[in-house]
Amino acid sequence: MSNLLLKNVRPMGGSATDVLVMNDRIAQIDTDMTIPASINLLDCGGHLLLPGLVNAHAHIDKNLLGLPWRPNSVPEPRRIKDYVDNERQQRIALGIDTAKQSALEVQMAIEAGVTHIRTHVDIDTDAGLQHWKGVLQTKETFKDQLTMQTVAFPQSGMLIRQGTIELLEEAVKMGADAIGGLDPSTVDRDPVKHLDTVFDIADRHGVEVDIHLHEPGMLGAFAVELIAERTQALGLQGKVTISHVFCLGMVDDAYLDKLIRLILDNDITIMSLGSGSGAFPPLKKLHDAGVKLCTGTDGVHDLWGIYNSVNMLDRVRLLGYRCGFRRDEDVEFLLDVATYGGATVMKDDNYGIKVGNTADFIVIAGETPTEAVVNQAVPKYVVKRGQVVASDGKLL
Ligand SMILES: [Zn+2]
Repeated sequence: MSNLLLKNVRPMGGSATDVLVMNDRIAQIDTDMTIPASINLLDCGGHLLLPGLVNAHAHIDKNLLGLPWRPNSVPEPRRIKDYVDNERQQRIALGIDTAKQSALEVQMAIEAGVTHIRTHVDIDTDAGLQHWKGVLQTKETFKDQLTMQTVAFPQSGMLIRQGTIELLEEAVKMGADAIGGLDPSTVDRDPVKHLDTVFDIADRHGVEVDIHLHEPGMLGAFAVELIAERTQALGLQGKVTISHVFCLGMVDDAYLDKLIRLILDNDITIMSLGSGSGAFPPLKKLHDAGVKLCTGTDGVHDLWGIYNSVNMLDRVRLLGYRCGFRRDEDVEFLLDVATYGGATVMKDDNYGIKVGNTADFIVIAGETPTEAVVNQAVPKYVVKRGQVVASDGKLL
């Protein structure tokens, strides 16, 4: 059992206080409390107390962290499918050990203050369930230090590669929290059949849906409509996430309003990284309309790109840059997306700095949360379920 007293800490940059943690929960937040016997005291020196960072979109199975540098050599014309095929082939050629690589990424993430990860895991007819099993091993290894959800993800396409559907279903039976999907028109070239298949698996097995949708403009918007229709038909409101959804930043205002209505009516979450140079969802507008948002790192140091890191404060900074935000309150809105937004999509009802909630939080230098984002400080302490799991950037 873990009993902790954090002395002199400032929740979300507010006044200094003490926080008592008993049996993995936040028991009391007060400046004047009776200290129980046998307590571990953490002097926090006036640092910030922030909720644990939530990476709601990762690919921990495909990083090249710690390996020799690989120049990016994705062949032309660099469509999604070219990235996918290049990655699948190179992973085989390089003999990547998924269990080892995913464990390294999770360790680095925890050291950077991440307490929750939702990761997509590639499932295809070349690798079978190899990556899947590697990630499950990592999930087990870190079960006391991190909350992990898994998405069975047909990265290489589903209908175009016979045998993939059966493998996805196998992964779902082995405990996937969600079934993934990918660009139903441009990769599988049959959006209705692709989405019917994904939603059918979700419906029959009672898992969530999390779909990668990179398709632009009206094509992507059409897929959003199809996803909303299926969410409604199967009563899966609150269980569907669409990731990237660049099209929401491409359609005209009237059509965007119609899509927002569909998203709200079906309680669909939007995951955005603000990645790339093109359009991306207007996050503030979506938030103001009441749309649930989350964010993540996407693949880190992989065969797609080089700029993503495990650090979710870096993600908030990049998102802020892409959104053109300068005001602290806008940066803190994005930090909220990277914490509470992710915890909501992962259905953690006991998340957040409040008495009675699970003690998942970080102690980090900064006058305000925005300063912590800008300075990319390393957390002094990372606490998971009341246990200090990392300190000064080192896993304990
Ligand atoms: Zn992704």
